[in-house]
Amino acid sequence: MMKERVLDINNKIKLACERVGRDPSDVTLIAVSKTKPIEMIEEAYELGLRHFGENKVQELVKKHNDLDEKYGDSIRFHQIGHLQRNKVKQVIDKAVLIHSVDSLRLGKMIEQEASKKDMVCDILIQLNIAEEDSKYGVSEKELLPLFMELIKFPHIRVRGLMAIAPYVTDSEKNRAYFKKMRQIFIDIKYKNIDNKLENTYFNPDCFDILSMGMSGDYEVAVEEGATMVRIGTGVFGERNYSNTSKI
Ligand SMILES: *Cc1c(COP(=O)(O)O)cnc(C)c1O
Repeated sequence: MMKERVLDINNKIKLACERVGRDPSDVTLIAVSKTKPIEMIEEAYELGLRHFGENKVQELVKKHNDLDEKYGDSIRFHQIGHLQRNKVKQVIDKAVLIHSVDSLRLGKMIEQEASKKDMVCDILIQLNIAEEDSKYGVSEKELLPLFMELIKFPHIRVRGLMAIAPYVTDSEKNRAYFKKMRQIFIDIKYKNIDNKLENTYFNPDCFDILSMGMSGDYEVAVEEGATMVRIGTGVFGERNYSNTSKI
């Protein structure tokens, strides 16, 4: 039952926070609803969930539109999957946050479309923390140069970092990656970039999101500082497709 699963996840997040002295309200559960029908999103909403993650633009837009009348702004969709430049225009005002920005070309397109709509778009930079060929995201070396360019755009607000850790059966194996993510996040936040550089729109107070941890490893991610966990299988049960494409 979804109800038991959601209660269990919320409880585990709370316990993980207690172990390290964090406030559970600082962690947002994003229910990853990709491939799942609208009815299951409604069921999750009734259980109190408000944030949903999708990896395909078409699916996000359809679900957003289908549920807009019923829930309005109270339901929030996150673009967590790889984003192609030609899809930016469709998703930019439907997703509350784009987790997967990993190139300047994509950033330029987001700036252009956000500017046209006279809005500021919240984004995260996706880091390929374990440098896996099967994952999108920038390398640690590419991160700062990309960040320094993205913060020059007036219609983009860089809110933090996202990573997809390796698929492991023992979540402890990902602890070092989560620790490293948090360290990189802190380094950027307190670099005093806003003081050093003129003409940037970076606000360290708004650099406050660390999106990491999935069904198999979210407890460890929370212990290591995640502020958003993206949980699909854990909330909705197994997906009936095998995704072999790059994520
Ligand atoms: C599918 C997906 C998730 C959720 O995966 P689960 O293992 O089902 O929790 C999280 N993040 C991204 C980017 C995904 O594509």
